[in-house]
Amino acid sequence: MNELKIFNDLFFEKKKKILIKNAKIVYGEDFEVVNGYIKIEDGKITEIGEGSARGASAIDAKKGIVMPAFTNAHVHLLDCSGIDEGFYMPIEKRVGRNGIKFKVIERAISNSSIERHVLKCIAEIIKSGTLALCEFREFGIKMKIEKLKRILDWKVLARTFSGEHDFKEKIKKILKEYDGFGISSISDYTREEIEIISKETEKARKILAVHAGEVSDDVKDVLKINPSFIVHATNISEESLKLISEKKIPVVLCARANASFAVGIPNILNLYEKTTVALGTDNAMANNLDMFREIEFVFKVARGISRDWSFGAEEVLKMATINGRKILNLESNAVEEGNKAKIILLRNKYDSRDILTTIVNRYSSCDVKLIVSGDVVISFKSKSL
Ligand SMILES: [Zn+2]
Repeated sequence: MNELKIFNDLFFEKKKKILIKNAKIVYGEDFEVVNGYIKIEDGKITEIGEGSARGASAIDAKKGIVMPAFTNAHVHLLDCSGIDEGFYMPIEKRVGRNGIKFKVIERAISNSSIERHVLKCIAEIIKSGTLALCEFREFGIKMKIEKLKRILDWKVLARTFSGEHDFKEKIKKILKEYDGFGISSISDYTREEIEIISKETEKARKILAVHAGEVSDDVKDVLKINPSFIVHATNISEESLKLISEKKIPVVLCARANASFAVGIPNILNLYEKTTVALGTDNAMANNLDMFREIEFVFKVARGISRDWSFGAEEVLKMATINGRKILNLESNAVEEGNKAKIILLRNKYDSRDILTTIVNRYSSCDVKLIVSGDVVISFKSKSL
């Protein structure tokens, strides 16, 4: 299957020089809002300035917002063919060891629809303004995604199952072929197997990520194997929070998925204060992949549960954009000179004096007008600027 066929409603245009003028730019790591223009050359941001700019082929943003593209730091894509299956079952029956998720994946493999389903997800991801993701992949499925990888920074963390023959060799093979190892639960493996996974991942200098504290608190044991980051930290003790903070272990929160699985809500504010936090949408079976929906949920739930009215949208936007890339060892996509252009342009929809809050509070994926990934400009056939 042609990997770009799924995008027949988009234009992809390679451009050596790109100028976007008349924009509100969410600038740098501090997200200062600048009214002006942005110049991109050979895929890199070369100049951002206040005021107007001239250029024959300039893109007029019409006071729209230029911001860093989203990073979906934790997602399972293979189960996407089972949209909302088993929604009213407990989490163990949905995504546990013999859960419905594995039946869904096997079904899609056996009827050869898996690649089409995954590419459909990727289309949703890109169109909603995400240009980096980290996938936990349950089975060793390979897809032809070379063209897509030029647009999307797509990290795949694979896994193998406990008790498999030649376990160590299998781990080495995985680490050669993928970006790292994703552990679904530390209790899925024997102590010896966990040691092999941890040592070999470190040796290969690849990513080791672990689901931790999703249903019960296993953070203490997980941190013993020095993961690159943990996913969830939803149901954890004060002691575990302290350990995460002391070891500075980054955390990827999947608050909307946790709510969907009815397993609680992470202490978003506490974690944000203690370590680097990014956001993920988790299982495509249980949750859609739209980061606009994620940020609004996280923002409001964090404020509602903590009763902290000062908790801001800026923090949530950073979690959803530049923080994920830090955790995944990808170069920064803060909108500033010298960085690779990994940005989105949102239409000028609201007359707001607080753009960052308005993005999180009101914008949605249908407001994405343009996506720039390096030297590729992606626009929508159905939307004009
Ligand atoms: Zn997960």
